[in-house]
Amino acid sequence: MVKKDIVIFSAPSGSGKTTILKRLFDLNPDVFDFSISATSRPKRNNEIDGKDYYFLTEQDFRAKIANDEFLEWEEVYNGILYGTLKLEIERIRANGKIIAFDVDVNGGISIKKLFKDNAVSVFVMPPSVDELRHRLELRATESKESIADRIERSAMELSMSSKFDYTILNDDINLAVAKAQKIVDEVLQR
Ligand code: 5GP
Repeated sequence: MVKKDIVIFSAPSGSGKTTILKRLFDLNPDVFDFSISATSRPKRNNEIDGKDYYFLTEQDFRAKIANDEFLEWEEVYNGILYGTLKLEIERIRANGKIIAFDVDVNGGISIKKLFKDNAVSVFVMPPSVDELRHRLELRATESKESIADRIERSAMELSMSSKFDYTILNDDINLAVAKAQKIVDEVLQR
């Protein structure tokens, strides 16, 4: 079996993929390194530049696109850019860790195509669109418009789930983490 050193998590916003990833990191210390993406969206109060994202102006982001510095990038929401910098992959590979990606569905499919059998891709499925809306409202990090954008996009995202190696239904966070851990054990061949 080919040794896998990449795990990709994709899902509609509010599905809980970031929570699952955080729990996996705690359960598997020193195994993963998170691929820190670049984004042109404004920083939330609880986020740290260089830890959660590299926050760039749209102008700087576009200059890096022109300079071919991205492995992949997407305009995930209207006018808001997200992308994986090639340098980020080199940084993690140098540490010999498994790279964990938290990217949108298009990014997830692109990264899987690039790394093929070295990567395992996981789609985190919310129980329903109503539950997605409820979670985004509870999280209270987004404006009304941003929640509406995210819900609108979720139909397209849900229709892409079959393109992933695995789907995890997240209606119970403990069960979802246990399923994610099983996939990780397989990747680590243990
Ligand atoms: P948020 O604004 O909630 O942090 O992220 C919005 C969406 O952008 C999520 O689906 C997240 O996974 C996705 N995203 C974050 N970083 C990247 C990236 O580097 N590339 C792509 N394609 N999507 C990303």
